[in-house]
Amino acid sequence: MGGTFDPVHHGHLVAASEVAGLFGLDEVVFVPTGQPWQKSERGVSPAEDRYLMTVIATASNPRFSVSRVDVDRGGPTYTIDTLTDLRREHPDAELFFITGADALAQIVGWRETDKLFHLAHFVGVTRPGYQLADADLPQGAVSLVEVPALAISSTDCRDRVRRGMPVWYLVPDGVVQYIEKRGLYHGDPVRPGEVL
Ligand code: ATP
Ligand code: MG
Repeated sequence: MGGTFDPVHHGHLVAASEVAGLFGLDEVVFVPTGQPWQKSERGVSPAEDRYLMTVIATASNPRFSVSRVDVDRGGPTYTIDTLTDLRREHPDAELFFITGADALAQIVGWRETDKLFHLAHFVGVTRPGYQLADADLPQGAVSLVEVPALAISSTDCRDRVRRGMPVWYLVPDGVVQYIEKRGLYHGDPVRPGEVL
């Protein structure tokens, strides 16, 4: 399961756990993205912070692990590179790529889609506010599954921290404490026209 994980939240964890249960997966590998070369509209938190929060969030689950492949490669992450590296590390594994409805919507726009589908079976999970549609997807390459709906996003978690609102119970306890310890999100810029 790839993601920015800025921060990782219970929506990610429930989706991973549900897909692992449905497909009988031995392991779910969370893969935080590398650091973009250029700051986009919003600066993404340092890769090491996002990596460590993901480790904290998954530590208690023996079937969850975290991979550094994208963090160590650096630069913007392309899923083709992630899957190629994971394939190299696990030559005999059957790979599944777990992705939310919003990310799946961009799937057809991804580079080298044929190669992607050859490397892994894609699993699209429902996410409140987004429509899961298989209309444009190649037959058999993607499974669409319904997971318990959690209307949580990292964007909302960051906004909450910035506004002094709680993120307890939206992210694991250790992640709340890590955000506090490192002072993450407190200084995020206010968007134009935003009412605090
Ligand atoms: P941001 O708001 O910064 O984009 P996010 O909450 O979307 O953060 P990402 O790290 O972008 O989190 O997401 C990683 C993957 O998890 C994506 O495939 C995304 O669709 C999926 N995902 C995120 N939140 C949920 C959720 N609440 N339910 C189901 N899937 C989710
Ligand atoms: Mg997202």
